[in-house]
Amino acid sequence: MTFNYSKQFNTKQTSQQNFVPGVKGQARNTAGGVAFKLDPMDQLDRFLILGSESPTYYASASKLTKTNAKNIEKLIKSHGVDVVNRVVEISVENRAPKNDPAIFCLAMCAKLGDNDTRKAAYAALPKVCRIGTHLFQFAEAAEAFGGWGRGMRNAVANWYNCKSPEKLQYQVVKYKQREGWSHRDLLRLAHVKPITEQHGEIFKYVVTGESDAVFEDESENALWTIWACEQAKKAESVGEVVKLITDYNLPREVIPTAFLNHPQVWEALLQRMPMTAMIRNLGKMSSIGVIGSMNAGEKLVIEKLADKAVLEKARIHPLNVLNAMNIYNGGHGFRGSLSWTPSQRVVDALDSAFYATFKHVEPTGKATLLALDVSGSMGCGNLAGMPGITPRVGSAAMALVTAAVEKQYEVIGFTGGSRGSWGSSGVSKLAISPRQRLDTVLNTVSGLPFGRTDCALPMTWALENKLNVDTFVIYTDNETWCGNIHPFQALKKYRQATGIPAKLVVVGMTATEFTIADPSDPGMLDVVGFDSAAPSIISNFSKD
Ligand code: CA
Repeated sequence: MTFNYSKQFNTKQTSQQNFVPGVKGQARNTAGGVAFKLDPMDQLDRFLILGSESPTYYASASKLTKTNAKNIEKLIKSHGVDVVNRVVEISVENRAPKNDPAIFCLAMCAKLGDNDTRKAAYAALPKVCRIGTHLFQFAEAAEAFGGWGRGMRNAVANWYNCKSPEKLQYQVVKYKQREGWSHRDLLRLAHVKPITEQHGEIFKYVVTGESDAVFEDESENALWTIWACEQAKKAESVGEVVKLITDYNLPREVIPTAFLNHPQVWEALLQRMPMTAMIRNLGKMSSIGVIGSMNAGEKLVIEKLADKAVLEKARIHPLNVLNAMNIYNGGHGFRGSLSWTPSQRVVDALDSAFYATFKHVEPTGKATLLALDVSGSMGCGNLAGMPGITPRVGSAAMALVTAAVEKQYEVIGFTGGSRGSWGSSGVSKLAISPRQRLDTVLNTVSGLPFGRTDCALPMTWALENKLNVDTFVIYTDNETWCGNIHPFQALKKYRQATGIPAKLVVVGMTATEFTIADPSDPGMLDVVGFDSAAPSIISNFSKD
């Protein structure tokens, strides 16, 4: 017998525990396997979209946040203005379910960047911080990295002065304070000089609570939102409150608590309620009968959820729809004793809205294998801190968006080692389809067996089963470690054996710095899980 040296050390098939000879950019992931280090700008995308407020199987929220903040700190030094532009793009185009990571990153740019970076960050403030709450979050984050210099004061002053009095008064009554910050604090710290007399009146109202001067003027320029807000505080009957809401479009936040259990008040609010508020309050409105079988409230909610233009204008993100659907369908709130019977028509409408809130996806006509990593780690933590939405169930929902437009596709789940009914392959075709409602799909996927992680399985399985795949899409946390071949090697082997120049898209479901995609291979691409543009990016890459 001859000892086979090249079987022990070669470039074509390497255990995931070992580095592949001669390949650049590899790094040991948190699971102890060898993957690739993600490009720093791609890591920034993952942070901006997925955030780090929830732990992963391998890292605490604190550790994950520090890793990401260090990456941002480094990037700011070399590509500060690019970082600001990226923050603006992700935030303005509504690609992330939460704006918090963008605000944090913008504050870092404003405080830690060079002159150009600071300037760009402050100029972007009104674009990224679109509501009062965002501004408070920015102030909190900026203070953690520095003080109230001239740049900061000017930027905050500009935030107030660049809004019309009409819009500004709505901001100051609806978003009063957050985490110890109020408009009063900001106006004082920034020494804001009002740009018009009406701005001055609004500032005076914010700082002193005095409002008489504001309402003396009965011209059409009077600050009616503030006036109506003050009237609501003094209101004694439901009728008065309803009239104020109807005539002056008052938001829920300014209605005295005593009136917030009256169906008539919610009916009035619902007529022009902002979409985000509507989606959050479906349970409340069902519990008091404003949404009920075949009634006007149910009809209006369903109409609004079906209006793609309204959803887009309100920047509703698909993950927020999925989260709302999860909570609403559960029939009770997470806190308190509120409970309701969900309207199944409203749940159906949320299901459709989920697909409608992604950026438009073109069908590719390519044979697409949608492969879900269902290993143990994927069942841990939440996407963007959304309760119950693990990377595993989030993957299934994402895969269905592509499945909904493609004709030739298969959805599989994969996990390493032999898994009972899954046989020795570790791969199973999943009985899920976009024709099913998402709650059913999520239940199916969360009930699957867990196991070890081998991200090469989709490629080796497709080869063994003689499947012609143009594009592999793998939804994973990239913590692969237990296979005897690296995923990129398995893809090369698949291409060679079949003659198909197959592509691989890696959909990263956690904000880590690792990927299974070889950065030197143009046939592989990294996208971010629950980027509202991810399915359209996958489609464009797959088509070309
Ligand atoms: Ca895993």
